[in-house]
Amino acid sequence: MIASIDDKDRIFTNIYGFQDWGVDGAMKRGDWDNTKDLMIRGQDQIIEDIKASGLRGRGGAGFPTGMKWSFMPKESKPGKPSFLLINADESEPGSCKDREILRHDPHKLLEGALIAGFAMRARAAYIYIRGEFIREAENLFAAVAQAYDKGLLGKNAAGSGYDFDVFVHRGAGAYICGEETAQIESLEGKKGQPRLKPPFPAGVGLFGCPTTVNNVESIAVVPTILRRGPSWFAGIGRDKNQGTKLFQISGHVNNPTVVEEAMGISFRELVDKHAGGIRGGWDNLLAVIPGGSSVPLVPAAQIIDAPMDFDGLREVGSGLGTAAIIVMDKSTDIVRAISRISYFYKHESCGQCTPCREGTGWMWRVMERLRTGEAEMHEIDMLHEVTKQVEGHTICALGDAAAWPIQGLIKHFRPEIERRISDFRSDMAVAAE
Ligand code: NAD
Ligand code: SF4
Repeated sequence: MIASIDDKDRIFTNIYGFQDWGVDGAMKRGDWDNTKDLMIRGQDQIIEDIKASGLRGRGGAGFPTGMKWSFMPKESKPGKPSFLLINADESEPGSCKDREILRHDPHKLLEGALIAGFAMRARAAYIYIRGEFIREAENLFAAVAQAYDKGLLGKNAAGSGYDFDVFVHRGAGAYICGEETAQIESLEGKKGQPRLKPPFPAGVGLFGCPTTVNNVESIAVVPTILRRGPSWFAGIGRDKNQGTKLFQISGHVNNPTVVEEAMGISFRELVDKHAGGIRGGWDNLLAVIPGGSSVPLVPAAQIIDAPMDFDGLREVGSGLGTAAIIVMDKSTDIVRAISRISYFYKHESCGQCTPCREGTGWMWRVMERLRTGEAEMHEIDMLHEVTKQVEGHTICALGDAAAWPIQGLIKHFRPEIERRISDFRSDMAVAAE
């Protein structure tokens, strides 16, 4: 079992905002400390170090970060500069970790942007921040201005000899603009709709130029990994699931929280140590959505001892996603909860491809019939079949994200759905007498 970490291994030392988030406070905590010394090791070595650290993307998909950077061209073509695009459009239901970084530790993100941008030979970083993040955007704009004032960004950034700019762009409230290619379209001034991949953004990205899209947390951990060394980060967690991670614990726990912990910590230890346990005790736990609303729920018995990392959660039929853990106790109407999630995906579908545009509405309407019990028994299997027709047949992952929660519900809570349908029939029969 993976051990919990203590404060000396925490990267985000101001995650609760007890200290000054501005540049002076950040410098006191060690940010921007001789950044040029981290860059002097060279672009290829930085990428090798990030590969060696085992860092995998923290936005949900878990793609190896160093490998993603290595797809960027080493020589830029005339008129085709490279860009780093930082995805701060955190919108996955349950996710609220990037928000804390943007509010309380924005300089970690900006220092990481400079180093990552340098490593992938980008001339600038764009930070696309969720439109609803008002205070966070204020802090981020102020932090960027502070960094320019101190010569940490712009010409000869941080005395490194490298010119690097950071632009902040505010989104307008569309969940789909968190998808990397929809975000690129949006930043280009177009309607935010995902593009077909390939080509991946490293080949054809922002304004047709090579672009790497990384999550806020993935970039913000980079300076600390380089300062402490890749083997320090790789030594936390387990093979292919390394490092620390911000877990967001919401729902029916005694103290909902965001906490940095070791990848692979067990669910029980995470919740007992940081969230005050399950409301009403562990026997009262019904199910958990462990990675944001896009991953299937896991019933209590299967999650309690599961390691909270990519492989551990895959083994119980779910995923780490953004590590947004939604805890549901036995007071939860589980069919209603999943129906509500279905409504979310129906609402947020960009409507571009037929299986998602039509399928999400169709799935939600049947989910509502299951919730009230009005459906016929055979509709359970029909709904499952429709989720299989949507899954894997759409342009972006939103189609999968709409299908998986329903599949998880049918797999684990079929008797509850059947009970509702039977009860509804009985009630109707009684009413007719
Ligand atoms: P993905 O697996 O398609 O891609 C992950 C990353 O790897 C992308 O940057 C992609 O360009 C890159 N990549 C993958 N294969 C590649 C290849 N062969 N060559 C070059 N690059 C390659 O996943 P995705 O659609 O980017 O993300 C889906 C995830 O997003 C879901 O798991 C979900 O948990 C998460 N999500 C997060 C939020 C949030 O608020 N953070 C919101 C919605 C969804
Ligand atoms: Fe748009 Fe849905 Fe197709 Fe994604 S899967 S491109 S959200 S219609």
